[in-house]
Amino acid sequence: MKAEVACMTAASPDHKVLARAGMILKKGGLVAFPTETVYGLGGNALDPSASRKIYAAKGRPSDNPLIVHIADMKDLEGIAAAVPEKAREMADKFWPGPLTMIFPKTDRVPLETTGGLETVAVRFPSDPIAQELIRCAGGYVAAPSANTSGRPSPTTAQHVIDDLGDTIDMIIDSGPVGIGLESTIIDFSGDVPVILRPGYISPQMAGEIVPDIRIDPGLLKDGGNVRPKAPGMKYRHYAPKADLTVVEGSLQEVTLLIREKVKESIREGRTPGVIASEETFECYPEGIVRCIGSRSDEESIARHLYQVLRAFDDDGVEVIWSEAFDTPTLGQAIMNRLLKAAGHRVIYAGGQKNDSSGV
Ligand code: AMP
Ligand code: MG
Repeated sequence: MKAEVACMTAASPDHKVLARAGMILKKGGLVAFPTETVYGLGGNALDPSASRKIYAAKGRPSDNPLIVHIADMKDLEGIAAAVPEKAREMADKFWPGPLTMIFPKTDRVPLETTGGLETVAVRFPSDPIAQELIRCAGGYVAAPSANTSGRPSPTTAQHVIDDLGDTIDMIIDSGPVGIGLESTIIDFSGDVPVILRPGYISPQMAGEIVPDIRIDPGLLKDGGNVRPKAPGMKYRHYAPKADLTVVEGSLQEVTLLIREKVKESIREGRTPGVIASEETFECYPEGIVRCIGSRSDEESIARHLYQVLRAFDDDGVEVIWSEAFDTPTLGQAIMNRLLKAAGHRVIYAGGQKNDSSGV
């Protein structure tokens, strides 16, 4: 099956196409659509067979639960059995937006959607096209990132076409997404709220409403062998085809070491790639060098990360050296994705590293 690709903009959504896409979802089909974070692969969240189709299309392990997307606050009660007051305050502040919250589920949500868990992850996206589609589909759309499992999440419709163009019913194209990293996930199903996945909503931002918020120890570099609580975080996601290594240290030492590594790779007959920033782009005379964004604009780095990783796949690069991007607010979310893409392969330029902060 070749997916129908429908183009529209958030400023002028095509209501007819969205009504049709909503019908496809109601009948159990799959539609990929834009959100402010990344493109999602939508299916009816209350239909077990639609959820099974999502897992099959992505090649996603069936223990990795799906996030249910809503477009109206009143729909939360239909799927969440208990919503603490603090979670309501988080919703007031950050919904619609890049925040997912986990609650005990009601019986309406099939275990196929939650990967067998008795909890459900819920998000209310801000993208107007996503919202209209969710309403047309009946209110509850399960939507993981619209990539083949293990590949970088899609930030353009072309990425979705590349991965799923032959497998799903429709792809809605509204251009590149705004944020480029998946939502922050906070678990509100236990005694203390816990961040299970870092994202655009930083721990500091969440901490203003929930001062006792914790970070899942499974996400911390010094967390030992603790398993991450979100099943999806244990997989090596976001992997480019080439071996990727992140180089940490002072920027000057990092650029010098990457230059050396690039030379070494060329000597060994391997095609090297470099992930650089606007500030360092000129420092690399050799290799295929891609600029991820500016260090003074961390949102640009977040927005371009997956696109850069995918571009290296197309170039046939065999080994990638990346600078680290420990930027002030989004650094934790960016480094979480980058280190997973690297399978946690890190080298330190200019001696030992001394911090053990979370990723
Ligand atoms: P994706 O939709 O591809 O961005 O992945 C969704 C992420 O949310 C995965 O890491 C899942 O493991 C996590 N997730 C979804 N539902 C739950 C839940 N009920 N409990 C814990 N983690 C969840
Ligand atoms: Mg994903």
